[in-house]
Amino acid sequence: MKSPGLGDKFLMMKVAILGCATSTGVPIIGCSCQVCTSADPKNNRTRCSALVESKGKNILIDTSTDLRFQALRHGITRLDAVLYTHSHADHTHGIDELRVYNFINKAAIPCYGNTQAIENIKNSFKYIFDAQESAGGKPKLTLTVVSEEFDFGGIKITPVEVFHADWTIFGYRIGGMAYLTDCSGIPDGSWDKLKGLDLLIISALRYRPHPAHLDVEQAVETAGKINPRLTVLTHMGHELDYNTLSGELPESIVPAFDGMEIEVPDP
Ligand SMILES: [Zn+2]
Ligand SMILES: [Zn+2]
Ligand SMILES: [Zn+2]
Repeated sequence: MKSPGLGDKFLMMKVAILGCATSTGVPIIGCSCQVCTSADPKNNRTRCSALVESKGKNILIDTSTDLRFQALRHGITRLDAVLYTHSHADHTHGIDELRVYNFINKAAIPCYGNTQAIENIKNSFKYIFDAQESAGGKPKLTLTVVSEEFDFGGIKITPVEVFHADWTIFGYRIGGMAYLTDCSGIPDGSWDKLKGLDLLIISALRYRPHPAHLDVEQAVETAGKINPRLTVLTHMGHELDYNTLSGELPESIVPAFDGMEIEVPDP
């Protein structure tokens, strides 16, 4: 998974981890634990999001609370679509930052998600979607409910249902990459969609079990069943120290860090 030369730009899909923290971010406000006070920049995690670059398109997964900071840090000058995994605050509250991409694209940004995510986003950000609300400066977005594989700009995107406590939310598969955040389990019907992966990005909150998230051991076990070439753990809390965790994981599994980039063959 090495970077190709410039000429190969359109032959590789690039996946960037914009943020790999759980909902609080790491460090957590007011916490003085070892990870929150760590000098290792890899322990400094913004809220969970990723960018997929394929066939000249930039596809954002979730509009995290930290989207503005992430976009500036990563130099994201263009965004073509947003895939929503679900509607929790840490995955949606950067939605207003999409406005600047309306200015750049001179067009609405297409956003995709399951019925629950789209309905909750409409309700949570009523000012954006209510035509009666005429106040200036709101993002122009089109919301589309998806349930099966769809095409965006020649890129096949497959929603993959995962459990998140008692919610069923979306992960997404694009080519040889699947992104499953806020996952507490994989429904029977989703395993087939995860066959033959180069790259699995999956959430691992902490060492202890949690009702809404896989813990490290469960994430490793799930990755073992899916058996991708490389697994990257994301949505991590302040219990997880980058270096310590790196040393504990099997060879094909690594923790994410903000700004991590992985290249996989373009679908
Ligand atoms: Zn989350
Ligand atoms: Zn802490
Ligand atoms: Zn969540």
